[in-house]
Amino acid sequence: MFTPTITVYYGSLINPTTLTSYETITGCLIAVNAHGNIDWIIHDVKDSSIQETLLQKGLFDADVTIVPLQEGQFIMPGFVDTHTHAPQVPNTGTGYQSELLDWLENFTFPMEANFQDVDFAKQVYPSIIKKFIASGTTTCCYYGTLHLESNKVLADIVHSLGQRALIGKCNMDRNCPSYYIEPSSSRSISDTQAFISYVRSLAPGPSDNPGNPLIYPVVTPRFAISCTNELLSSLKTLVHLDTRLHIQTHISENLKEVEYTKELYPDCEHYAGVYDSYGLLRNNTILAHAIWLQEKEIDLVKEREVGISHCPTSNFNLRSGIAPIGKYLDRGVKIGLGTDVSGGFSASMLVAMRNASIASTVVALQNNPTNAPIKEGKFTNRQLPLATLLYLATKGGAEVCVLDQQIGSLEPGKSFDALIVDVSNISSTSKWPGDSDVDPALRKISTTTSSVRSSSRAILEGLLEKFVFCGDDRNVFAVFVQGKLIGGTSYA
Ligand SMILES: [Zn+2]
Repeated sequence: MFTPTITVYYGSLINPTTLTSYETITGCLIAVNAHGNIDWIIHDVKDSSIQETLLQKGLFDADVTIVPLQEGQFIMPGFVDTHTHAPQVPNTGTGYQSELLDWLENFTFPMEANFQDVDFAKQVYPSIIKKFIASGTTTCCYYGTLHLESNKVLADIVHSLGQRALIGKCNMDRNCPSYYIEPSSSRSISDTQAFISYVRSLAPGPSDNPGNPLIYPVVTPRFAISCTNELLSSLKTLVHLDTRLHIQTHISENLKEVEYTKELYPDCEHYAGVYDSYGLLRNNTILAHAIWLQEKEIDLVKEREVGISHCPTSNFNLRSGIAPIGKYLDRGVKIGLGTDVSGGFSASMLVAMRNASIASTVVALQNNPTNAPIKEGKFTNRQLPLATLLYLATKGGAEVCVLDQQIGSLEPGKSFDALIVDVSNISSTSKWPGDSDVDPALRKISTTTSSVRSSSRAILEGLLEKFVFCGDDRNVFAVFVQGKLIGGTSYA
């Protein structure tokens, strides 16, 4: 009888649990089966007990590949980027003296228009997707352009590189330049339907992972301003007939955008009401930015179980504003983080986490400059702690994508979408204890076995904080999606 190969990773694990807590586990054995799913996780196993533990699990040498982590390394779930624009990556670091609407006209639309040329798409998309993977993003929500054929190229490349992703063809049939606009709403819909069919034809994913699609189509009206009523009505019908379809769009990013939207949709009570009136707010909808939501809009977003993608880097760069994420969290709204390239200047979720921290700090300083005790809410007007940043970048993002049963944390039954992080070059380098029973991640930092046992959590917390605030893709040693190695510095 064929016995599937099991890969067992051995080392320290950092794993989000709630918005305010995460596990730090040393001596962890994580068993990943041939389909890339996690079979089991055992904590606190000494080096000398590994073989015995595997035998207790009924595993013999021939069945198992053991991968011990090296000093300064730990495993964590991969990042979930809930909002970014693949075709804007060439514009990264460009146009940050502009605000949103001018920036779109002068920088973004001209760049995206280049993707009319399918050969251009074939030329630039591979390195773009590799950049996101190298940054540790295992699941990414991509906006494409309006072009059907180039979006197919984008889907092909993401699929071939093995990243998990939501990919959307932009709908935009008004208020766009003549060189970058869809000719009609009917063409926009027919191209959208063709793209959805194409992406679904790529499933069920790589041949060695049957039945588990890695790429999902996502309906992507650019934003209300760029869509006619006719187009939004057609999208309403499309998503009503197919509740599996994800939806992504922008909302309340910039005050001029909010004002213009109100002018275009005078019958709607507010911006969120525009999308709601076209059936676009539901539990698999992702709204990017959401800086300027009114109280009634927050209630509506919560009621519809919509997820918000917090894009703080972009919000700073384009001077859009600071989203009150702490308030949204206290209201129970699902929140993830987005790099929003090229409003954001980095494809790395580490940068998104840092800027989410800074954004929350600015909110705290503005609203509570004396740092007085706050009576109401865990998050409102407070700096987001490390646990919250980790949660938003992983599990929170998975919730926003409605993939949290499968990804976002490392647990038995979930997919092994994970990173091996190596902070050896940015962590402290005190005496090597030379104790084989010390967890490898801790060897370089600790001095005695007893101190490791008593302070392993503090050390791992320190390694995570170093990674989040000082790390970059050089610290991403391995990137796994569905158990398969697809990137990282160890990936040739
Ligand atoms: Zn965006």
